[in-house]
Amino acid sequence: MSQTILVTGANRGIGHAIALRLARDGFDLALHCRQRRDDIEQLAQQIARLGRQVRVLQFDVADRAACRAALEADVAAHGACYGVVCNAGIAADAAFPAMTDAEWDGVLRTNLDGFYNVLHPLVMPMVQRRQPGRIVTVASVSGLIGNRGQVNYSAAKAGIIGATKALALELAKRRITVNCVAPGLIDTEMLPQEVRDEALKQVPARRLGTPDEVAAAVAFLMREDAGYITRQVISVNGGLA
Ligand code: NDP
Repeated sequence: MSQTILVTGANRGIGHAIALRLARDGFDLALHCRQRRDDIEQLAQQIARLGRQVRVLQFDVADRAACRAALEADVAAHGACYGVVCNAGIAADAAFPAMTDAEWDGVLRTNLDGFYNVLHPLVMPMVQRRQPGRIVTVASVSGLIGNRGQVNYSAAKAGIIGATKALALELAKRRITVNCVAPGLIDTEMLPQEVRDEALKQVPARRLGTPDEVAAAVAFLMREDAGYITRQVISVNGGLA
């Protein structure tokens, strides 16, 4: 039976690396993007050349109705996925007193509501599939230890960690594992150039992580023989926390 994994935010950064790694590991892919269709089409072609089935879904993870419509239609057309990677996310950093309502709301809606918006339409079909399944969320070191200037982001990512652990309890008997990968400082567009040098001083490994290194942790959790690993947070952070 083909094993399909949905990766949100697959058009660039960590999500792009996760999708490519999972395709190389032999999974079929449902690639999600919000925009940047050229990027996602190129990735889809690359994955197809690897001999994997691939399809593209487009919606805003902060838009509950759009998520439900797109994901219910996908399940109706293709059946439930083996795995889901909730990777799409944003940061909008500001010192707390200067934080705007839009920065607070945007980060919570995309990251934390995104967990609910994407997984709620998918979990019951995964259970009804009566097969092992895998859910991996992407949080952050900020959600584990907090980070100055990221009260919104730390709250959202800590929320994702709590939600991941709770959902793991609900799905464990169904052979669906639910785990979290918590990256540290990873070399993508999300990490502003101006904070990199200062931030690196805090990293014991003294370098940024690569998207491929995060993808490797996700790929490990997706393996069929990782079925006894659930409700865990795997940090990929060069020793930062
Ligand atoms: P990027 O900014 O490079 O990519 C973010 C991805 O999320 C893009 O594909 C983006 O799509 C998508 N996305 C953002 N908002 C939405 C939305 N409302 N609806 C749909 N898609 C959306 O970031 P990274 O690759 O670095 O981050 C990936 C994940 O890793 C995020 O959850 C992030 O919080 C987390 N992370 C990253 C760290 C880092 O240092 N880079 C550290 C810790 C965690 P679009 O192109 O349309 O904007």
